[in-house]
Amino acid sequence: MKAVRLEATGKLQLSEVEKPAPGPGELLVRIEACGICGTDRHIFHGEFPSKPPVTLGHEFAGIVETVGPGVTNFRPGMRVTGDPNISCGGCEECRRGRVNLCRKLQAIGIHRDGGFADYVCMPQSQAFALPSDLDPLHGAFCEPLACCIHGVDLGGLQTGSSVIVLGGGVIGLLTLQLARFAGATRVLLVTRSSEKRRLAESLGATATADPGGGDIIARITADNGLLPGGADVVFECAGVAETMQQAPRLARRGGTAVILGVMAQGAKIEIEPFDLLFREIRLITSFVNPFTHGRAADLIASGEIRVEPLISRRIGLAEAPEAIVNPARSGEIRVLVVPDGK
Ligand code: NAP
Ligand code: ZN
Repeated sequence: MKAVRLEATGKLQLSEVEKPAPGPGELLVRIEACGICGTDRHIFHGEFPSKPPVTLGHEFAGIVETVGPGVTNFRPGMRVTGDPNISCGGCEECRRGRVNLCRKLQAIGIHRDGGFADYVCMPQSQAFALPSDLDPLHGAFCEPLACCIHGVDLGGLQTGSSVIVLGGGVIGLLTLQLARFAGATRVLLVTRSSEKRRLAESLGATATADPGGGDIIARITADNGLLPGGADVVFECAGVAETMQQAPRLARRGGTAVILGVMAQGAKIEIEPFDLLFREIRLITSFVNPFTHGRAADLIASGEIRVEPLISRRIGLAEAPEAIVNPARSGEIRVLVVPDGK
């Protein structure tokens, strides 16, 4: 079979490899689609730890081809999505239920072979069923959606909450939809590209703003601003210093700022503790997808969260290395790798 292999940092290529055989408790899944995520690019450049040689791709879904001994919950022909994050179950964090903080966390597509391939092998405990009539490409959005669900859970959204989302990439656009679905009445999405702002409005944003051209904090929080006083919950979904600093400032008194974006290790930002304290802002972070992948699969299956407009391009495995290595094209949300090129 074909697989996109990271041979070493900076060396990514399409290779012919042996089709894996499912071990005890494992499923062999024929990949239908696997999303290219910014993390894949960081892994390629050595900015995110991985374990080459390894097949990349951690946002995948497909059809069960065969099952290994002892598999009880799945059978060949079922459509599944994979939660890539495998926790050890034995470390102190796992034993406290904090599986995303597992000290031995291993991810499919990062530390063991992933979804930029014709097939992937995974433990049945990482698989979640999807309906047989679902669009075969949509399952690839379960992983990013599961991360956003964790963020929305931590943010403590309530019916009628007001929300600001910073960043109009896939994480921002999924978080926006989740916020509306969770009952937020006003959701303001801030992103630079007008194309992404239009998309956000079509996906339920009640307002959008361009962060350029004047003081965005004042434009939003002033008495005559877009959301006077700020939002109950702000989601930072851009991963840049500017938005990290804006997030707590855009939360209303007593409000919450949730950081989802990733910045380079060692990067620093300025915050004003006085402002955080005197307005009692909760500043929290949200890391990956503890126990949320099943809910993501259900939301995708139900069609409540719209993912079709987030698919910018579909490419075959042969084109994948170039698409992973190069920066995303302007305006692009998600590129999906579809192994048979359909
Ligand atoms: P992405 O496609 O790069 O989206 C980020 C968006 O932020 C960009 O599309 C960009 O759109 C916008 N942006 C950049 N500078 C901005 C600014 N100053 N103000 C407002 N918007 C700005 O990335 P993504 O896949 O959506 O992921 C977003 C972040 O979440 C990344 O840092 C990623 O690593 C992280 N992430 C975290 C988790 C987790 O578990 N916490 C999971 C997955 C991803 P414009 O050009 O329109 O501004
Ligand atoms: Zn653990």
